[in-house]
Amino acid sequence: MGKCSKDKRDIYYRKAKEQGYRARSAFKLLQLDDTFHLLPGVSRVVDLCAAPGGWTQVIAERLESLANDNCIVAVDLMEMAPLEHAVQIQGDITAQSTADAIIAQFRGAKAQLVVSDGAPDVLGLHDLDEYLQAQLVLAALNISLNVLEEGGTFVAKIFRGKEVSRLYAQLQRFFASVVCAKPKASRNSSFESFVVCRGLRLPDGYVPSMELSLFDEPYANEAERTAGATSVLFQSCGDVDGWDADQSYPMEDDDEHKEPLQRPINPPYAQAQKST
Ligand code: SAM
Repeated sequence: MGKCSKDKRDIYYRKAKEQGYRARSAFKLLQLDDTFHLLPGVSRVVDLCAAPGGWTQVIAERLESLANDNCIVAVDLMEMAPLEHAVQIQGDITAQSTADAIIAQFRGAKAQLVVSDGAPDVLGLHDLDEYLQAQLVLAALNISLNVLEEGGTFVAKIFRGKEVSRLYAQLQRFFASVVCAKPKASRNSSFESFVVCRGLRLPDGYVPSMELSLFDEPYANEAERTAGATSVLFQSCGDVDGWDADQSYPMEDDDEHKEPLQRPINPPYAQAQKST
């Protein structure tokens, strides 16, 4: 979390620091869970693209059963500071080795819930950002098809651009229900939303493989054919009278500056700082 003056006025940024969350995005998962009841009753969860760990903190707080230490697996390219109840895998979600490491953590069982708040570096070029985000969602979906149990739930961040129906069509091939959700903590000015996909059911004869790209034949064509006719329910989540992510709230007198709870570990910019 940065500390420019715009960030300081952002209410969720301030609330995250007050409540001990490593990232303001924690509130998005809290609001998604309040609406969709994702976490009650599950005990094996994978948090893809987890660093710095705000979502992992929410999962650890809300899981009812934390009997063994292996029930949350958090994956990210970046190193992440340890969190109680979570096993961390530093790896790429497109790699077979990452899928194998997840299954090993659950001792051969599969996850009941996979969440992904993954984001590539945003370029500011709308169409290209949407394309890169869709690629990352499909990578998250593909690893989920390998590590999620039948009937399981998949939640992922998407960018709701003009090609989004193609993504919905892919998701509907694998899940009985797909809803697009916008938590109140996600700015209206951002085209970010989240898909909540429930009831994984692999199509007849479909064998999940990390080698497969969901953009490849013959699967892509099948989804393309149905894309035009695809629509999904849209649901906003979070208290309608609650904090508005698009508003700037004035600082109170007792709002003193607080340092980030968890600074990034070995961030790529550290290398550049060393050489200047
Ligand atoms: N949910 C997190 C939280 O609450 O703290 C924030 C996630 S942050 C918005 C997006 C993360 O996606 C980054 O940490 C980035 O390293 C990760 N990421 C992007 N591409 C990835 C990939 N191919 N494999 C694993 N992680 C990836």
